[in-house]
Amino acid sequence: MKYLITGGAGFIGSHLCEVLLARGHRVVAIDDLSTGRVANIAHLSPLPHFQFVREDIRNSQVLDRLTSEAEVVIHLAAAVGVQLIVEDPVRTIRTNIMGTEGVLEAANRYGCKVLIASTSEVYGKGVRVPFREDDDRLMGPTVRSRWAYAESKAVDEFLSLAYYHQFGLPVVIMRFFNTVGPRQTGRYGMVVPRFVRNALKGEPLHVYGDGRQSRCFADVADVTRAVGELAEHPGAVGQVFNVGATEEITIRDLAERVIRLTGSDSEVVMVPYDEAYGPGFEDMRRRVPSIEKLNALIGYRPRCSLDDILRRVIEHERLKIED
Ligand code: UDP
Repeated sequence: MKYLITGGAGFIGSHLCEVLLARGHRVVAIDDLSTGRVANIAHLSPLPHFQFVREDIRNSQVLDRLTSEAEVVIHLAAAVGVQLIVEDPVRTIRTNIMGTEGVLEAANRYGCKVLIASTSEVYGKGVRVPFREDDDRLMGPTVRSRWAYAESKAVDEFLSLAYYHQFGLPVVIMRFFNTVGPRQTGRYGMVVPRFVRNALKGEPLHVYGDGRQSRCFADVADVTRAVGELAEHPGAVGQVFNVGATEEITIRDLAERVIRLTGSDSEVVMVPYDEAYGPGFEDMRRRVPSIEKLNALIGYRPRCSLDDILRRVIEHERLKIED
């Protein structure tokens, strides 16, 4: 099959390109390199079934041409990371909503299947975990810019399902939970690469809030394997799926775990949310996916434990620091 991956030079995108190429597909990656990096895909460039196009997905001519040549579009291009979203809310909203609209429009013109990346943020401040795909959602007020990300992704979901119901466009929605692995940068707030880098350098690990907020971290290899299978499964069309792992850990414990696994003598420093993200920031206390639906369709179970994941990230960051 011929795949077009938007955001293909990003962290998840570059791993997904590898998975699809390994499954024997042709892959074109489009990325404007705003947060993606050529280094993420440099090893793929010599492969005959891979092509990289540096362009913004809002360039409708280029998007139209690439879509016309594809059978499946996997739309990952989006503003990423809570920090970036709080700092640049206009870009977040525009990229996430207009970008997705353009992708759906083009896919509809050529009858491509489309997989849309959404996020666990759409569950908002929901407190009943694990989150199931058909759960109600609880959002914070519009004056808190963090929620712009969740709402823009929720609009993407509505729009995708509208294209499915109204025009019969085959869409699949994937709600990614915290995904980690090699090549993820800590530049936009992501906690695991930050903690690992700081631990390796002997610098303090900054835990925001009281550190009792919890997350489940999935390995990017597990996540991209699930995406590859969802793309090929006809039963996924018109559906929403959580994609993540279920091993829950508090951020405070994560910091201790990283320090132990790196053998670092770094300290843990508690930082109030206001200092980390600006006044009035609201975090999510717990975020745990139900992965039953994904498991029922494709037999998905995460293969990597949190320790496996952390060891791989530590090894990757160690090599980068030594470079
Ligand atoms: N966090 C932290 N220190 C950091 C970066 C993040 O304590 O240097 C916290 C953050 O406030 C959140 C959790 O770690 O509670 C996960 O943050 P991340 O940005 O990785 O993902 P999120 O779950 O917020 O999308």
